[in-house]
Amino acid sequence: MINGYKPRTNLVHAGTRRSQYGEMSEAIFLTQGFVYENAEAAEARFIESGPDDFIYARYGNPTVAMFEDRIASLEGAEAAFATASGMAAVNAALFCQLKSGDHVVAAKALFGSCLYIIETLLPQFGVEVTFVDGIDLDQWRAAVRADTTLCFLEAMSNPTLEVIDIAAVAEIVHAVDAQLIVDNVFVTPVFQRSLKLGADVVVYSATKHIDGQGRCLGGVVLGTEEFIHGALGNYMKHTGGALSPFNAWVMVKSLETLDLRCRAQADSALAIAKALEGHPKLANVIFPGLKSHPQYALASRQMEQGGTVIALDLAGGKEAAFKFINGLDIVLISNNLADAKSIITHPATTTHQRLTDEQRESLGISDGLVRLSIGLEDPDDLLNDIMTALR
Ligand SMILES: *Cc1c(COP(=O)(O)O)cnc(C)c1O
Repeated sequence: MINGYKPRTNLVHAGTRRSQYGEMSEAIFLTQGFVYENAEAAEARFIESGPDDFIYARYGNPTVAMFEDRIASLEGAEAAFATASGMAAVNAALFCQLKSGDHVVAAKALFGSCLYIIETLLPQFGVEVTFVDGIDLDQWRAAVRADTTLCFLEAMSNPTLEVIDIAAVAEIVHAVDAQLIVDNVFVTPVFQRSLKLGADVVVYSATKHIDGQGRCLGGVVLGTEEFIHGALGNYMKHTGGALSPFNAWVMVKSLETLDLRCRAQADSALAIAKALEGHPKLANVIFPGLKSHPQYALASRQMEQGGTVIALDLAGGKEAAFKFINGLDIVLISNNLADAKSIITHPATTTHQRLTDEQRESLGISDGLVRLSIGLEDPDDLLNDIMTALR
């Protein structure tokens, strides 16, 4: 909340930089560079630049700044830095503050590219990594050490929707003076404020709910003013992962409807999950808003709603899963999620194909598991489509 306004108000107004023309809708400042009145002004800007003094689009841009300020107001963060994709955000949040000899602890259930950075890239630079089962607090306690500098987790895991207790993990991480980075993509900034729960840094793929309409890649890192405009800002400026002004404009307009879209999609997801529970063709329906979810109490405490993704385990394994997927009419087959259009994914053969059988088993990714991302269609039509395909 900034200026005492509530999130929906800030999502429409926060960060607006209106030009001398008084435009209603935010402008796209599609410019790489900026000109100065005179040589003295150029010199002064390189010595010190305020939030509206721009130098070069790799460092910042007015449209990008509108997006950064607006999302920061929603998250309750002091500052934000927008990135070219969610992975540019994750990469920067880690690499900008790690050095050879550091120790990192991460929850093992990670988005494929996050896993690649942490499991493969970090050790190449002399960073030691320990993986834990994110929902097991004893494993976090056993893994952190005096030389642990960073801990990383996805607040809700993909695709099995396990919910990690952010406040409890933050306490363990802070006890050894390490920092906690939370990738909050699956939960969304609408339903959970991770900084308030104790996280030091939050990252998003804006490609998901924030765009929410399948158009642009984008990402953002949120945290303290000191971190965002210090270590993180310097890393971003000089390594080139900045968000393009055009994509920032799409994202800033998307933020206006983010709250409404997430709530509508989450309401539909809950109704559909409830209707599917106990269906004879399904071995399991996983959704954090269902009382049957193993972390239902934690999810209800930590998240305002259960999210927009449901995991279904088809009793008949891969054959049944493929038959179900192919039988859907409205729901589209894709590996993306959090779109206005509902999407179905078979993780074992697509997003998580690279993993070994043992890794998939330890993450609960069975051959019958499908990930269903609920969109903005009428929930009755979606449920009919799903029921028909199950039949
Ligand atoms: C999609 C996703 C990312 C990466 O985002 P991109 O915008 O595709 O680079 C990172 N983490 C999670 C949890 C995601 O779902």
